[in-house]
Parts: sequence; C-alpha cells; structure tokens
Amino acid sequence: MTTIFDKIIRRQIPASIVYEDDLTLAFKDVNPQAPVHLLVIPKEPIPQLAQAEPSHQALLGHLLLVAQRVAAEVGLTNGYRLVINNGQDAGQTVFHLHIHILGGRPLAWPPG
Ligand code: AMP
Repeated sequence: MTTIFDKIIRRQIPASIVYEDDLTLAFKDVNPQAPVHLLVIPKEPIPQLAQAEPSHQALLGHLLLVAQRVAAEVGLTNGYRLVINNGQDAGQTVFHLHIHILGGRPLAWPPG
C-alpha cells in the first residue's frame, strides 16, 4: 500500500529532509510534538515493526544509527527520545515504519 512517506521518498510531495542515504531518509515531522521532531524511515516500505523480518536486521540497526547521527547533527546534546508506534493502540497513523526523534525539551515519562 502506498503511503504519504512513499510520496516523500519519491519527491512527489515536499518535506524538510535532513538526511538521506541509499537505505533511509530523515525529515521533519509536519506536526511537531517537541522543538525537535524528526522521522527516520527506511526507503523499503515495511508497514510496521511487527512486519519486520530477520532479513531486515541490518536495516533496523542502520535506522538506529541514522537516528543517532541525525540527533547529534541537529544538536540534541541534552538527550532525546526515539519512539516507534506500532499499530492501533500505539496510535500509528502512517503504515510505513518510522522512528520518531523527539527532543529540545524535557520529555515526560511515562508517555501517554
Ligand atoms: P505515527 O502516529 O507514529 O504513525 O506518526 C506519523 C507521523 O507522521 C505523525 O507524527 C505525523 O505528524 C507525521 N506526518 C504525517 N504526514 C507527514 C508529512 N507529509 N510530512 C511529515 N510528517 C508527516
């Protein structure tokens, strides 16, 4: 199923892209929940974490390292939170796997 993130990957709709490599893309969330709110996505359209497979092991690790790199590049030196919403109860709205990077303010715990 095509999602809005496929369209961002294909440059069919605009996004504020902050990082790209062969396997991943990172861009600003259009509805930020913190002063810094970025999304890191694989270019491969895995709908959600629950549908990732052992063959995705390296890609999943790469996504975390991209998140680490992007967080450092945007100056999140005081810390940040990575979030993956998986499925209905977690409030997932876009069914293309993505990691939220949230930072720039103290973040409450537990999340809602
Ligand atoms: P989730 O609820 O985990 O599925 O998160 C989806 C995220 O995608 C939300 O935080 C939305 O604000 C964000 N989003 C939806 N459409 C766009 C878009 N066109 N550009 C950037 N972020 C988007």
